[in-house]
Amino acid sequence: MPIPLIVHGAAGRMGNVILRLALAEPGLAIHAGVDRVSGTLRALGVASDAPLLPVLPAVPGAVVIDFSHHSAFSAVAAHCAANGMALVSGTTGVPPAELASALDAAAVRAPVLHAMNMSVGVNVVVKTAAHLAKALGPDYDIEIVEAHHNLKKDAPSGTAFAIADAILAATGRTRADLVPGRDGDVGARRKGEIGVHALRLGDVVGDHSVYFVGNGERILLGHVAHTRDLFAKGALRAAAWIAGRPPGRYVMADVLGL
Ligand code: NAD
Repeated sequence: MPIPLIVHGAAGRMGNVILRLALAEPGLAIHAGVDRVSGTLRALGVASDAPLLPVLPAVPGAVVIDFSHHSAFSAVAAHCAANGMALVSGTTGVPPAELASALDAAAVRAPVLHAMNMSVGVNVVVKTAAHLAKALGPDYDIEIVEAHHNLKKDAPSGTAFAIADAILAATGRTRADLVPGRDGDVGARRKGEIGVHALRLGDVVGDHSVYFVGNGERILLGHVAHTRDLFAKGALRAAAWIAGRPPGRYVMADVLGL
């Protein structure tokens, strides 16, 4: 039996891609889209007669994929927990304390997964960066460089911080060791510091490079996003994986077996 799928934020950029890609997933059956408008998904250009609803329905056993707005996150998580629905959310901008408490509360009754970056490749890069940093040891200088389109407001990117945090955790360092950009008379590079640099260029979807440089060699780890579809593909993979799991908090590394 295909798993009923409900997409919250259905009329948005990500919601639309998720719905279109979900049509090709035999293990998932689109049950409904939810946004601030009513009708059917055909109004969004999606080849499905499933309804477009203004509020989340109660469908025990369904999986909700949420790419909407941070102001909706806690209510979506509570609704899933109260109605026996699994949650996969990629919505960003939820204040960290609110995110943690909403996930913890929902995880008592439902399987929940939240990821700042749903790309399968990025999650593998995060894990690999931590592994390389630990294996190479303190004699290798590490720097992270990210590039995004010229409309992006925050810098460095959340994904650059995710890579940095994984390296910090693997090597016993803290965020105090991060140096976001360098400017002026900063002196020689301090051993153990990790530079994080942001480029803003044209329509770049998202590039991340991690340099590991010793005396005599350089290892480069990189990820280049060609299309936003990769976030939707990761979310659909997480939805198929989380359906039927016991209540609890899960991360993309669980989905990918990393
Ligand atoms: P968008 O603005 O195009 O779409 C958001 C949709 O959510 C809109 O249609 C809006 O009407 C709807 N919405 C907002 N509040 C709602 C509510 N209370 N109830 C129902 N619907 C509501 O944005 P987008 O580019 O699709 O991104 C959505 C979110 O996903 C953002 O937080 C973005 O940062 C995040 N995102 C995450 C990843 C990832 O990999 N984790 C990737 C891309 C985008």
